[in-house]
Amino acid sequence: MPSPSGRGVAEAGQRLSPIQAYSGDPEDAAGMVQPIRQYPYTPILGWSLSRYDLFSICRRRYFFQYYAKYDREVPIRRLTRFKELTTVPMETGTIVHEVIEVLLNRLRTTSEPIDRERFHAFADQAIARSLEGKTFDEVVYGELPAIHPEDLRPRVLACLDNLLASDRFRWLVEEASPASGQWIIDPPGYGETRLGDLKVYIKVDVLFPLGEQIHILDWKTGKTDPGKHRKQLVGYATWAATHFAIEPERVLPTLAYLYPAYEEVQQSFTAADLQAFAVQVRAETHEMYEYCRDIEQNIPLEKAEFPRIDDPRVCAQCAFRAVCFPETYPAAL
Ligand code: SF4
Repeated sequence: MPSPSGRGVAEAGQRLSPIQAYSGDPEDAAGMVQPIRQYPYTPILGWSLSRYDLFSICRRRYFFQYYAKYDREVPIRRLTRFKELTTVPMETGTIVHEVIEVLLNRLRTTSEPIDRERFHAFADQAIARSLEGKTFDEVVYGELPAIHPEDLRPRVLACLDNLLASDRFRWLVEEASPASGQWIIDPPGYGETRLGDLKVYIKVDVLFPLGEQIHILDWKTGKTDPGKHRKQLVGYATWAATHFAIEPERVLPTLAYLYPAYEEVQQSFTAADLQAFAVQVRAETHEMYEYCRDIEQNIPLEKAEFPRIDDPRVCAQCAFRAVCFPETYPAAL
């Protein structure tokens, strides 16, 4: 039940105010979106698309990523430094997300045309900040002597300009922004939610109600990955339907690819689709549980139970390659 004010402090997993059926009156939009559910901390592992991906690709990498403190051979400080490495493509994504977040917040206050020069200058500042604070895989492994703004700038600006020139952006300005008070942009936290008794993490970039639908947008700066589209989209639909207790058909998740040209992948789902997704997540979670000595406390089996993959093409892309194969991949870290 909503509190009388529709606000307040939620108890664990409790809603603060429900999404209500939308009457079509923009004034009513104020009642549609509620703060995101909060859950009490539990140590048990939570499913996420990226966690299960990593688990599927290489068990050892999964161990380094999620259970570094249990490694008896390699100090956690060393593993953490490899874990924190970024790459030019990853950082491009981070910067583009950061700038779009600011852009959407601006749209909440004005729909005045964007001054392209100032916009690019803002993106340049974000690039400069990134170069100050991050350690790049390409430098550590000797592929590039250093990362300069020009290594990031063309792709960052192309992504942003493609968005500004897209029908989606026009739609955001002309149709969606009147209800921008309801936009949830880059919600805090890791997108924790529940699927039955399972903990899952599904993080959305931006969510907002319009008409009777909840739109979810996920900005992509890399190559399209059709093999993962459906799983990602149904995950977003699950997240919104669970958080806001609405029919999945009212959720419209969209993957918005920003490069090399603006392109969208969109799909809506039924309750049966969400049930099938829940079955899959349960099976994948239980696969990962099998690698826990203590499931509730999320304590892993011994490192030896997490074998290295035998595929040099995969290892060549892995941040931990200097840990597994120091002679093949010497690292300046
Ligand atoms: S270098 Fe290869 S074997 Fe080692 S963690 Fe990475 S992917 Fe796995």
